[in-house]
Amino acid sequence: MSLIVVGSMAFDAIETPFGKSDKIIGGAATYIAWSASNFCQPINQISVVGGDFPQEELDMLMQRGVMMEGVQIKKDEKSFFWSGRYHMDMNTRDTLETQLNVLGDFKPVVPESYQDCEFLMLGNLAPSVQLDVIDQLQNRPKLVVMDTMNFWMESAMDDLKKVLEKVDVLMVNDSEARELSHEYSLVKAARKITEMGPQYVIIKKGEHGALIFHEDKVFFAPALPLEEVFDPTGAGDTFAGGFIGHLARTKDISFENMKTGIIIGSVMASFCVEKFGTERLKELTREDIDKRLTQFQELVNFEIELV
Ligand code: AMP
Repeated sequence: MSLIVVGSMAFDAIETPFGKSDKIIGGAATYIAWSASNFCQPINQISVVGGDFPQEELDMLMQRGVMMEGVQIKKDEKSFFWSGRYHMDMNTRDTLETQLNVLGDFKPVVPESYQDCEFLMLGNLAPSVQLDVIDQLQNRPKLVVMDTMNFWMESAMDDLKKVLEKVDVLMVNDSEARELSHEYSLVKAARKITEMGPQYVIIKKGEHGALIFHEDKVFFAPALPLEEVFDPTGAGDTFAGGFIGHLARTKDISFENMKTGIIIGSVMASFCVEKFGTERLKELTREDIDKRLTQFQELVNFEIELV
């Protein structure tokens, strides 16, 4: 159940209508690793950080079975920094600032020990870097999942299209799916994206759940209605971690199992939003996860007699 996770490891500053964070630890690969490590270990991490990234954060992840051989530490440079402000609905946000810093000229190196991985999770990162990782793998993984965002659609569309041709599953939110496909209908958007490469398209809709499309099939996973939503940052990556972690653990890449994967992704995302940054993910127990899975089951279970 070997898994490679690629993505940013970063500092974030977040503003919501209800509070503001200082510079906290974030990054797509950070959230994915925290989430996926509940289901499968080891996780072979690929990223880059500056000398300012706290060693203790890397140590905590290592204790969770996250391998750091593929994480470059550029001592004299600064880590990637992103800041965002959420709107009142907490579903939409504006990026206030993106400082690429070490990500600007990141050349990933896939260590020999990571070769032969069966699952590859391409978290949010420059598409050229995602492509570079795919090209360095001697054998194609059983499943390649990719996440991306509007930032790359606006700044690196040609590279993004090249990566899309090489992946099995694309994960985006609804506005990104519309931007990528130029379609408003998510059904049409998923079909158009499928023509670009990925045979499975997952569209996340924040507090309104997530959809997975494959051929003419579609499945919906709800999001748990929560009393408190504190900070949605990283929810998408945490979702990705739950999805890929489950698939890597079970080694089953059928559509049926992907349906379970998006439920598990939604369960993990529901924890992420409850506190700022990775705080909530760090304290999770297996019992918490199982309890919430039961809540999800109860949320959508009903009996009906058709007459
Ligand atoms: P999410 O809320 O799941 O979309 O992911 C938020 C995380 O993505 C934050 O922790 C950011 O550090 C990271 N992020 C934001 N913009 C970028 C970018 N352009 N490239 C890589 N990671 C990013």
